[in-house]
Amino acid sequence: MERRKFMKAAGLAGVTGAAAAASAFPKPAVAQERIEFAMVSTWPRDFPGLGTGAQRLAERIATMSEGRIKMQYFSAGERVGAFDSFDEVASGNAQGYHAADYYWKGKHPGWAFFTAVPFGLTYTEMNGWIRFGGGQELWDELAGEFGLKGLMAGNTGVQMGGWFRKEINSADDLKGLKMRIPGLGGDVMAKLGASPVSLPGGQIYENLVSGAIDATEWVGPWNDGFMKFYEAAKFYYYPGMHEPGSMLALGLNASFWGKLSKSDKAIIEAAAASENDWMMSEYNAKSGAALKDLIANQGVQLRQFSDDTYDSFGEAAEEVFDEVQAHSPLAKKIYDSFVQARTDIGAWTNISDQAYVEQRNRVLGL
Ligand code: CA
Repeated sequence: MERRKFMKAAGLAGVTGAAAAASAFPKPAVAQERIEFAMVSTWPRDFPGLGTGAQRLAERIATMSEGRIKMQYFSAGERVGAFDSFDEVASGNAQGYHAADYYWKGKHPGWAFFTAVPFGLTYTEMNGWIRFGGGQELWDELAGEFGLKGLMAGNTGVQMGGWFRKEINSADDLKGLKMRIPGLGGDVMAKLGASPVSLPGGQIYENLVSGAIDATEWVGPWNDGFMKFYEAAKFYYYPGMHEPGSMLALGLNASFWGKLSKSDKAIIEAAAASENDWMMSEYNAKSGAALKDLIANQGVQLRQFSDDTYDSFGEAAEEVFDEVQAHSPLAKKIYDSFVQARTDIGAWTNISDQAYVEQRNRVLGL
């Protein structure tokens, strides 16, 4: 109850604050055309990480353009519902959204690859694929089919596997579970006999507490602790196979984007790239301490998915990816490029980040 009040109160304060900040910019000496940029999002107002990151991005675009790009930011429900963000921007009613593009997988399964997919890429691997491995070009091709243009604008890093009311010792324990899990991860769960549902962040807690869903994933300890899922489910599983480095997107209306000057495009690209980095930094800085607190003070039982369970995830994921490739030539092209990046970059991860961290933590007992 307190948490809901906080969100509501913060929402009102946020709108007033943003309007005040926008009007505080001095007028430029040379009259330049002001650009109206309404940004909708899939996140609750002031929601840690995702919401605050999207709001920071909107503020940064306004600041970098000295107020010439006039930002109006709307959290989920303030202008349209979370999942209506796509149509709001594709239609040109708003100029951009901040969202997880896998929410649009019903429109085309290719969208899932530009957030995260099961057995997918970590944050650093994803950045490599998008910027230097052909990922951005494929994202442009897909988004172009819907009148959109996507830019990387945030990342949560590896997500937790989810909150369960009972222990999950093998894939059999997933049968019949109604679980909130979006994207292709939800399709993997369906192959294993669970019933996946996709709910926006603001609706998960009440559904879990009421028993409408049995289990949920969301993000990680920092966000999930804020949501108080531990009040309804104590077993907290890692690592999530479904979202190994969820990239958030700034989705822009393609015609709006096409008309911007080179300079304005560079401002928006730089602001989005900056948020891609800042959000990941914040998740990394806060998740460890948040997990410690959940275990020490909220009775949370930390569990690791067994190899057996993971093998089942892997088999189910193969079936899901077969279906994705069969969808369309573009879906297959995205999948092939993603697999190539996972093979090439993943092999390097093995002998760089992974090998180093294993040795460092072993020697230091971390
Ligand atoms: Ca998630």
